[in-house]
Amino acid sequence: MSNNSENLLFKSESVWKKRSREEIEKFSSEYSGFLTNSKTERLTVKNLVSVAKKLGFSDDIFSDRFYVINKDKTVAFFKITDNLEDGFNIITAHIDSPRIDLKPRFLFEDDGILLLKTHYYGGIKKYQWFNIPLCLKGVVLKTDGSLVEVSIGDAPGEPVLVISDLLPHLDKEDKKVSEKFLGEDLSPIAGTIPLENEEKEAVKLYVLKLLNEKYGVTEKDLIGADLSLVPAFETRGAGLDSSLIAGYGHDDRVCAYTAFRAIIDSKSQKRSSIVLLFDREEIGSDGNTGAKERFWIRVLKKIVEHNNPNLDVEDLIEKSAVLSGDVAAGLDPKYKTVMEPLNAPKLGYGTVLVKYTGVRGKSGTSEASAEFFGKIRNLFIENDVSWQVGELGKVDQGGGGTVAKFFAELGSWVLDVGPAVLGMHSPYELVSKADVLETYLAYKTFLENFSG
Ligand code: MN
Ligand code: MN
Repeated sequence: MSNNSENLLFKSESVWKKRSREEIEKFSSEYSGFLTNSKTERLTVKNLVSVAKKLGFSDDIFSDRFYVINKDKTVAFFKITDNLEDGFNIITAHIDSPRIDLKPRFLFEDDGILLLKTHYYGGIKKYQWFNIPLCLKGVVLKTDGSLVEVSIGDAPGEPVLVISDLLPHLDKEDKKVSEKFLGEDLSPIAGTIPLENEEKEAVKLYVLKLLNEKYGVTEKDLIGADLSLVPAFETRGAGLDSSLIAGYGHDDRVCAYTAFRAIIDSKSQKRSSIVLLFDREEIGSDGNTGAKERFWIRVLKKIVEHNNPNLDVEDLIEKSAVLSGDVAAGLDPKYKTVMEPLNAPKLGYGTVLVKYTGVRGKSGTSEASAEFFGKIRNLFIENDVSWQVGELGKVDQGGGGTVAKFFAELGSWVLDVGPAVLGMHSPYELVSKADVLETYLAYKTFLENFSG
């Protein structure tokens, strides 16, 4: 029996001791290439769908593998099997990340300098966004009804946008960070050249002329556009041993990419697989592209009606299992005091199972039951996937949540599973290459082998 000390203890081991460097690097470089080119939810949808199409996914919801795009900002991938009555294995993640959006009217000239007015999106530490290279991404619906895609600052050689901070010599006032870095000051400099023969708003006119030449837009066209400032950084290896990946938007495109790869790479499946990638998680999942909007259920209703009208979609969803893919807060030796080390995830020790999130007394979270947590844990043990546990900081430290609760309220079994991140919500987040691979293997194992 397992009564020797070797078996009595749960031992977690670094993934680096188990997997080959080659295997870890191969997956990381594929992920890094994706992340550099997918800095908005729209680009993420476009890039993933283009890969899926090449692999035989169609837009026909009555085929056995297909995708559905919702308003260009949300996407779902389906692999449908004959045993619809058994329910689904679902992995969900979000593809929006904290960023700085332009206001509906954003061109503002003062003292010969053109600034862009912004409104930040998601939970950011504002000071992190000053004096770093930003690029402008998004779409504009012109007054003639045509849609223009905007991208400035991302391609090599293009100018970037920078929000200037105050020099230390004059920044002597000892204020709180929250008072020093104000939302209205997150304005990048957009221009300093006055248009010839113009007196009023000459710099603004010069930039408008440039935008008109490039995109055929006027100031009127730009009002109300979806335009965002995102870091212009390239995704890169980090650490002297290059064991980490530094990049913008690991939260939560790392789960989106690994879930996507899991569904396209899975060889077999015990029941139908669904990967749902949502927008608007960072602001509470509200809006017609967030997880509270259930376009995927409308799709399922059509499929069930087509394939087996005797089945009830709500019953099938209740039977379904959901891995809510989101990043966990990793243990940082510098900030140990906000964590409780026994339950804080370590970089390189595998994907993280988070039984509950929430605040204070577990407020505002769904919680995975012993049965469901145990089944997923056992599945990972049987399939040699490295896993560890996580929580969002020590008790009463702060807290947060994921989209898990929106699936729990449909009756599904739900557990949060994803890699640990350091510097979450910063312009340049860190993940372990080993944990990215392990998360992919965890999701793939789930889609291939979980039967409820
Ligand atoms: Mn997240
Ligand atoms: Mn987040």
